[in-house]
Amino acid sequence: MTTIQVKDREFSMFLSQAQILEQVDRVALSLSQDLAGKDPIFLCVLNGSFMFASDLLKRVTIPCEISFVKFSSYQGLSSTGKLKELIGLNQSLEGRTVVIVEDLVDTGFTMQQMVQKLQAMNPAEIRICTMLLKPGKLQVPLTIDYCALEIPNEFIVGYGLDYDGFGRNYPNIYQVVEKEKNNSDIEKRKMKNIVLFGAPGSGKGTQSDRLVAKYNYQHISTGDVLRNEIKNGTELGKTAKGYIDNGQLIPDELMVSILANVYDSFGKCEGVIFDGFPRTIPQAEALKIMLSNRGTDVTEMIDLDVPEDELMARLINRGKTSGRADDNEETIKKRLAVYNEQTSPLKIWYQEDGKYNHINGLGDMETIFNDICAVLEK
Ligand code: AMP
Repeated sequence: MTTIQVKDREFSMFLSQAQILEQVDRVALSLSQDLAGKDPIFLCVLNGSFMFASDLLKRVTIPCEISFVKFSSYQGLSSTGKLKELIGLNQSLEGRTVVIVEDLVDTGFTMQQMVQKLQAMNPAEIRICTMLLKPGKLQVPLTIDYCALEIPNEFIVGYGLDYDGFGRNYPNIYQVVEKEKNNSDIEKRKMKNIVLFGAPGSGKGTQSDRLVAKYNYQHISTGDVLRNEIKNGTELGKTAKGYIDNGQLIPDELMVSILANVYDSFGKCEGVIFDGFPRTIPQAEALKIMLSNRGTDVTEMIDLDVPEDELMARLINRGKTSGRADDNEETIKKRLAVYNEQTSPLKIWYQEDGKYNHINGLGDMETIFNDICAVLEK
């Protein structure tokens, strides 16, 4: 069988079971040699790695322990694909040699998160073993210790990998045959990309919530992503805290990679609201490139325009209950200055790009919301 149908897509043979197993043999041999005497624990990441893990571990000849873990998104935080928790791990890793067994390393963000979480459990060492690696897509510094096969950036199914939940049971690996190969790219092309723009306190968060409730949109709030990183005590959170507490912006490069990661984690939906991004011209340029690489662009930029004295009053008032370290008078002044200097030039940038929409952000919330909806439905 050289082609298969999985749901609405046709896929053609990419790697036969024999080709895969030849490489699995090689990796199993290396693992058995390298880890002899270390009694490693293999942590197999579900769901995708189940077939690889099974074939691999049948060939590993040294004493070892095997466990299965899974990443799940935190409830209620669908806007931030980065925020995941590791479930299924109920033994100590203290002093152990841990081998993460994964089906595919793509951007590397998920793997990086996993390594960070496991490191906190004081293992002697962590090694990464993946069946597939897309070297062209790796965006974070990661040492991949064992890799069965390097593959180009194609959408694939089979041997544990799925297309919308199906296709995992095929013993071979197949790639999509249509010209538009990547399913998620096809979906992304149909999605609206709304930049909800405005100074701190202009109501972006409030209006985003209402938009998400009305339309089938996902919401990316870069501020929320960063605050969660801080709450979770991650490396990123530690870096971000200094900037946020001082009313400054996080460096563009960091923000852009965070954003791409969150965006790519979204499944099928009508659109995405970008709240708090872009905040600088380089970020707007990077967003344009990121979307164009996925065959799409910003649909509308919506500028919630609110006078500065009102912003100041709203933020000071919010600071009484928000618990946000940056909602105090001194930091608010800095944030508004940063907005005027670095962010507001984006109004002209988006006017030139033909995407700019002015909304009076002062007054009744319902009226403002209706004005935004009118732009989205025009
Ligand atoms: P916000 O919740 O949108 O007001 O963001 C709070 C803080 O997070 C900002 O003052 C910045 O320090 C940081 N931040 C959020 N989004 C960005 C971004 N796109 N670029 C740089 N820094 C950001």
